[in-house]
Amino acid sequence: MPAQSLGHVVVLGGGVAGLLAAHVLARHAERVTVVERDHPGAGPAPRPGVPQSRHTHVLLTSGIDALDALLPGLPDEVRAAGGPRLDIPGDVGVWQGGQWVNRRNPSRPVLTASRPLFEHVLRERVLSGPGIEVLASTEVVGLTGDPGAVTGVVLRERGEQARPTGLAADLVVDATGRSSRLPRWWAELGGGAVEEDLLETGRAYATCVFESDDAPPQDIGGFYLVPEAGQPLGAIVLPAEGDRWMVTLSGPRGQAPPADVAGFVDFARLLPHDAPHKWLSTARAVGRPSGYRHTANRRRRWDRALRRTTGLLVVGDALSAFNPVYGQGLSVSALNAVALRDALDRSGEVSRWQRAVLRSGAGAWVVATGADSPMPGAEGGALRSGPVEGVLNRYLARVRDRVPGDPVVCAAFRDVLFLLAPPTSLLTTPGVLRRALLSPVVPTPPDLPTR
Ligand SMILES: Cc1cc2nc3c(=O)[nH]c(=O)nc-3n(C[C@H](O)[C@H](O)[C@H](O)COP(=O)(O)OP(=O)(O)OC[C@H]3O[C@@H](n4cnc5c(N)ncnc54)[C@H](O)[C@@H]3O)c2cc1C
Repeated sequence: MPAQSLGHVVVLGGGVAGLLAAHVLARHAERVTVVERDHPGAGPAPRPGVPQSRHTHVLLTSGIDALDALLPGLPDEVRAAGGPRLDIPGDVGVWQGGQWVNRRNPSRPVLTASRPLFEHVLRERVLSGPGIEVLASTEVVGLTGDPGAVTGVVLRERGEQARPTGLAADLVVDATGRSSRLPRWWAELGGGAVEEDLLETGRAYATCVFESDDAPPQDIGGFYLVPEAGQPLGAIVLPAEGDRWMVTLSGPRGQAPPADVAGFVDFARLLPHDAPHKWLSTARAVGRPSGYRHTANRRRRWDRALRRTTGLLVVGDALSAFNPVYGQGLSVSALNAVALRDALDRSGEVSRWQRAVLRSGAGAWVVATGADSPMPGAEGGALRSGPVEGVLNRYLARVRDRVPGDPVVCAAFRDVLFLLAPPTSLLTTPGVLRRALLSPVVPTPPDLPTR
């Protein structure tokens, strides 16, 4: 516990990162106010403030563990509400390095509840605790204070006649997501520009919900076709609650999946194996595909900008947003909250908490930018190029090629991808370096893998 109470904490945004931050901070604050521009309904449903809520969401093993540590039993509550759990690669047809991954390789669990269900279960649980109030249908439009000390926010209730009002805070936490306007509010306060790490591949997404009387063959619970430099198309087919299948297709810059059902299904023909297209052709679409294009990896260096500022902290996608194709954002929000909880227990300085929160997403940043750097058309200051990166990329390509047929390499790679181990473990885990450099690629059968 910090020696003194945090007083009044105002959390901007009531999405996953905002709810988790509110939960952690409530233990240390007199009261927490969450300001949310949407009015989330009584049940799980997509909402305008979270445009990604119509897209497939996977909660990785690290996210499951972090959530369970913060809110014991929450992953089980998500399952009890219908959110499926799958083991990867045991339950899923994963295509990587030009072949199917052996399903007998060691597995780890993921949860595949829809984003609205996941957030709904989380909201109910967090708001059932004491000390947290939500101001819904209320938009944050600015900060108060100065660059040395942020003292509150400017709010406006949604509606035509609404006037801006001030809300004083001892600590303001920005959790307004990928489209956070904090850089502008900070500049209006006289804070100057915030440094930004950026890597953009132009990947375009489309997701459509399907129903089917039949699961994919071979008792496969879903598909994950991983985009790579030589094969830049991606596909995710996973069950969600309510006997629905979430199907996401993605392509590099200039190759967006179409937003009509026939074109969407047809796009799946281009995938490197015909199994997902065959299954999709027998399933029924529920509604139209939803597109999404803001897939850049973007990390704002609030740890540097706020070094000498009190009263302001940034978490979740507002701090680090990742190319969603790697399925990391929810898990990083949970890891951010664990890091904040631990930092609050150690020290009373906000700038230290900010550094700890940023560090908790550093592994995910290395994974996403490392995988995106060799993609065609990748650009931005965080692009990893140069002789050292060239050697590392060649090594990682050798690792990736061995994932399908080598259980040791597969387990090590999967643990990095699922944020359970740091990226450096691909060099230090016993056997991985030797196998990647000296062992031949073990081919797996060309047909859909059996368990
Ligand atoms: C297409 C896509 C697919 C994804 N798939 C996955 C996946 O498979 N697995 C995974 O782990 N992650 C995935 N993510 C990332 C994941 O959605 C986010 O990382 C996660 O939701 C945490 O986000 P957040 O809470 O920081 O922001 P958000 O979820 O965006 O929430 C921000 C909240 O702030 C509110 N808000 C915004 N501005 C204001 C304002 N001015 N005033 C008041 N309120 C405001 C919004 O209404 C919203 O409620 C995906 C993202 C995208 C875009």
